[in-house]
Amino acid sequence: MAGNRTFTMIKPDATKNGHIGAILNHINKAGFKIVAMKYTRLSSEKAGEFYAVHKERPFYGELVEFMSSGPIVAAILEKDNAVEDFRKTIGATNPAEAEAGTIRALYATSIGENAVHGSDSDENAKIESDFHFAGTEIFG
Ligand code: ADP
Repeated sequence: MAGNRTFTMIKPDATKNGHIGAILNHINKAGFKIVAMKYTRLSSEKAGEFYAVHKERPFYGELVEFMSSGPIVAAILEKDNAVEDFRKTIGATNPAEAEAGTIRALYATSIGENAVHGSDSDENAKIESDFHFAGTEIFG
């Protein structure tokens, strides 16, 4: 059975471009409840750890540099079928290919600076949520 939580980050391009409020509103309107949230900045070590699965990819260095270049909003979201529904809400990795009306189509700059992260599985949603939040910071 699909889980009911996913993890997201509003990435440094979107925080810098003033899209935090619009993206949170979009998330709420799509039916997700925010059960944990923080405005923070990742060190390059933490960004490297978070994206360790992409270590061998050619864009890894660029990704780590970008994700530690400014503040992010990290949040845990709750909704039935959260992971899959949130991936639909954010759209394709490359904003040029993202469906109209999705968060990336509306707010992303490029395939690398693509406004938001969304977990790709229930297992990763749990790992990524635990990476950013203590149990006492989650209000489900
Ligand atoms: P998604 O975030 O849609 O799950 P991936 O897991 O494939 O996408 O990639 C993780 C992140 O790495 C992307 O969101 C994006 O910021 C960055 N990225 C992916 N592909 C590229 C690329 N070809 N060039 C630069 N950055 C990329």
